Amino acid sequence: MKAVLQLLKLTIEEKKALVLSFVFTVFVAFFTYVFVNLIQPIIDEMLQLAPQASPDKTNLMAFIFKNLRVSREQLFWFIPLLLVIVIFGKGLFTFLSSFFMKSIGHKAVKKLRDELFEHLVYQSSNYFDHKPTGELMSRLTNDVDKIQQAVSGSMGDLIQAIFILFALIIYIFITDWRLALASFIIAPLAVLLLALFSRQLKKKGKLNQIKMSQIYNLLHESITGNKIVKAFTMEKFEIKRFFQATHSYFKTSIKLAWIGSLSSPFMEFLGGVIGAFILVVGTTRIAQGYISPGDFGSFVMAIFMMFTPIKRLSRANNTIQQGVACYERVQEILQNKPQIKDHPCAFPLPPIKGEVKFENVSFSYNETRPVLYNVDFEAMPNETVALVGLSGAGKTTIINLLSRFYDPTSGRITIDGIDIREVSLSSLRSQIGLVTQDLILFNDTVRNNIAYGLEDISLKRVIEAAEAAKAHDFIVELPQEYDDLVGEKGSLLSSGQRQRLAIARALLKDPPILILDEATSALDSESERLIQIALANVMKNRTTFVIAHRLSTIRSADKILVVDRGRIAEIGTHKQLCRKDGIYKKLYDLQFPEEREETP
Ligand code: ADP
Ligand code: MG
Repeated sequence: MKAVLQLLKLTIEEKKALVLSFVFTVFVAFFTYVFVNLIQPIIDEMLQLAPQASPDKTNLMAFIFKNLRVSREQLFWFIPLLLVIVIFGKGLFTFLSSFFMKSIGHKAVKKLRDELFEHLVYQSSNYFDHKPTGELMSRLTNDVDKIQQAVSGSMGDLIQAIFILFALIIYIFITDWRLALASFIIAPLAVLLLALFSRQLKKKGKLNQIKMSQIYNLLHESITGNKIVKAFTMEKFEIKRFFQATHSYFKTSIKLAWIGSLSSPFMEFLGGVIGAFILVVGTTRIAQGYISPGDFGSFVMAIFMMFTPIKRLSRANNTIQQGVACYERVQEILQNKPQIKDHPCAFPLPPIKGEVKFENVSFSYNETRPVLYNVDFEAMPNETVALVGLSGAGKTTIINLLSRFYDPTSGRITIDGIDIREVSLSSLRSQIGLVTQDLILFNDTVRNNIAYGLEDISLKRVIEAAEAAKAHDFIVELPQEYDDLVGEKGSLLSSGQRQRLAIARALLKDPPILILDEATSALDSESERLIQIALANVMKNRTTFVIAHRLSTIRSADKILVVDRGRIAEIGTHKQLCRKDGIYKKLYDLQFPEEREETP
């Protein structure tokens, strides 16, 4: 019940539709009520089975006929007409209530999905480090779908089933409470047995699935590992294992077949027993003159009509339980607050000159192992700073801190003397251009990919940026030039082309701080040479951080930071560091042995 309330909360904002759906459901119950009532005059009046001893109570239909002054002859066409009207009304309101309930579900779910996405986009980088992509995607698709099914279908079903059951129960008790009571003593027995059967079916069904997946696993192992099986002459062993698995599957299948085949005839038999019981009690009641044969017909009809809502109730229960489980998982995502967000009194970073300072910055991705230790350096406006070091040394991590993808564990980072934690994230990031090694293109046109995140950019400026990034030449050779689609993650382009697009994107943004994290690593030497020329130009009037293995970039940098296991081991120009004969010299000789002679 608590679960249902939780899901209901989702729909609470659609009050109007909810109330309408509710009202329509009441109408469905009302028409159901009238319908079972109609059976009585059909039998008593139309079929001319007038009762031996007329019961001395007035029923609903007699009351209606009397007030509408319908004569006995007129009943002949009046009852069928009424039947059509009632069934039409019941159908109409079933349609309306179900449609409204479904639309409520879809609306609530659209909102939930949008909310989730918005929440996800603003999550910090570390969140995505720990959450598998597939899991997050399944939250937004599968789980939200299940919630929708629960809200749209099952909530409607549930409410409708309850109302209809209620109407039918009222009817049978009004008609003959003694007969109703008698039926209610025996009926729960059937419900109980039904529940027992369906539980067994479900349990065995699940077991069967497990057995099947065992077979599947064995099959997969034996096929993919067929060389190993042969090499160790394990064929007999594998065959025996497989036979055992299929035998075990066979055993549960047989049990399933047994229960499955038995359940329907058994239920029918049970229905027959109950029917016989009600028949005996009913005819006694007719003979005693308490009810008419028509009343009895209506009564039996009402009992039969209870079957569907009861079935629906148990089905709805399942779907709702599932929906609630999904809802809880979704809530878990929504409750996670992003670690990195604007400080309450954050102000926009004013246009910067580009002086970057790391002051004793330490950092770890998780509590267990620090990645950066006391990183301390500064970059003057318009300087080019190269970061070198072995892979895994922490170069990318340093760069990540500057864009506030993560916050330092201790120490601080300033730009133009302002702590970057004090300014708004958007104003900070809009002044930093980033070209990374795992650059991402979106499945859109070349033009929109270059102009990503910028509004109202003329094609002329896009072309200029592409020319500077040496991308223009290959773009005009594409079938649709700048309107060509790049495919998922840019898969229709070569890695060198993708990289040049990413560089063009950063150039178009024209940021005072530019970060190139192995931005030219995927290029062949010819395009790399071309881009180096372009980059040399764009690096001039901005602070640039470059992580590269390319000697010319490193050598011409104003400052080289040698990163070694999370520490800045050496700082200096190429010349200074070579003279020092430290880590840089070793790295340098290792990476560019052929250039050794050149070093001064
Ligand atoms: P570099 O760019 O110098 O090759 P990184 O800065 O990418 O090195 O990585 C530095 C260290 O931090 C490595 O040991 C790496 O395993 C670890 N690391 C990098 N990214 C993450 C992450 N998202 N979560 C946890 N550890 C990470
Ligand atoms: Mg890196």
